[in-house]
Amino acid sequence: MKTILVTGGAGYIGSHTIIELLQSNFNVISIDNYYNSIPLSYDLIKKITGKDFKKYQFDIAQDKDLELVFQENSIDGIIHFAALKSVPDSVANPIFCYQNNNNALLNIAQLAIKYGIENLVFSSSCSVYGNVAPIDLPVQENTIIRMAESPYAYSKQNGEVFLKSISEISTLKVFALRYFNPVGAHDSGEIGEFPSKHSNNLVPIITQTAIGLRDYMMVFGNDWNTRDGSCVRDYIHVSDIAEAHVLALSKLFQEDFNNKFEIVNLGSGQGVTVFEAIRSFEKMSGVKVNFKVGERRDGDVEAIYSLPNKAKDILGWFAKRDVDTMMDAAWKWQNKLIDLGFNTTKI
Ligand code: NAD
Repeated sequence: MKTILVTGGAGYIGSHTIIELLQSNFNVISIDNYYNSIPLSYDLIKKITGKDFKKYQFDIAQDKDLELVFQENSIDGIIHFAALKSVPDSVANPIFCYQNNNNALLNIAQLAIKYGIENLVFSSSCSVYGNVAPIDLPVQENTIIRMAESPYAYSKQNGEVFLKSISEISTLKVFALRYFNPVGAHDSGEIGEFPSKHSNNLVPIITQTAIGLRDYMMVFGNDWNTRDGSCVRDYIHVSDIAEAHVLALSKLFQEDFNNKFEIVNLGSGQGVTVFEAIRSFEKMSGVKVNFKVGERRDGDVEAIYSLPNKAKDILGWFAKRDVDTMMDAAWKWQNKLIDLGFNTTKI
């Protein structure tokens, strides 16, 4: 049985990926400092899978404990999720973002090489494409990389550059997976993204509005050059993303797979507008969402969606769950959060 070190395993995508790993018979070791998560995620993973795994709590970017994990365990592969993902926080405190995201990655890569671990999957992001122009759509892995729009996006651009050069001079093989817009929650409705002051994603805002935690939500601009005037994004179900990680690791473990550094888009290939997302939610939940249309927001891109063909060719992966399924799961999770004692006060 292969053992996978998952950094940021208590977080949103990490926890869903651990579920897929355990259900695919991998051993899991997780490290998280709970900066943007809570240990309850681990209990929910155990409830869903019936399996337990080893956990560590410390800061990968700073703590000397990281090497102990490599000494104590025989690790076959690493999935590196741990990062600060809030774009506004990264703008407000770029040093913290770079220190955390880039130091954590370099620490992991250095120890992976020292301990002879050859297989690494890195959480990258569609934000690396920068301010995408309409001519770039749909974005492919070789679409021109424009100037990063935030320190967060720059930390992901850097992360890819670091890993490419490190893989060239070491035994490390890397998949950098560029996620588009992960949303939704596990099909069981038992786990999803916990509310966080560091998150300002559309779908939690829709569900929080529907359940009455917000009086209304804002749609930032209805005068974009899109089919209904609102921004277009490529939403992707978190469990589809999680499954892609298992496929990427399995590919790296394949003896005849010797590619050193591969970048792969993880998107559905479908652009969905903000108004379409709201309508899909209303259809699936039967609840009306109160929204207001405001001014365009600084830094927003009009439209971004992927061409996910490479994921299909190299990993045999494609998005199985559509937007309605994502909204249904997100709504189940919003209600579950109330049962778990979260989200009882107005935002
Ligand atoms: P998340 O914040 O829910 O999970 C990240 C986890 O890493 C958190 O549990 C946090 O506590 C932990 N962490 C952060 N820094 C750490 C450190 N120095 N030491 C130990 N633990 C640390 O975020 P997520 O949505 O699960 O995202 C996972 C990865 O995917 C991140 O790298 C993120 O940048 C990337 N990504 C996310 C999205 C998205 O919209 N969710 C989109 C593209 C890329």
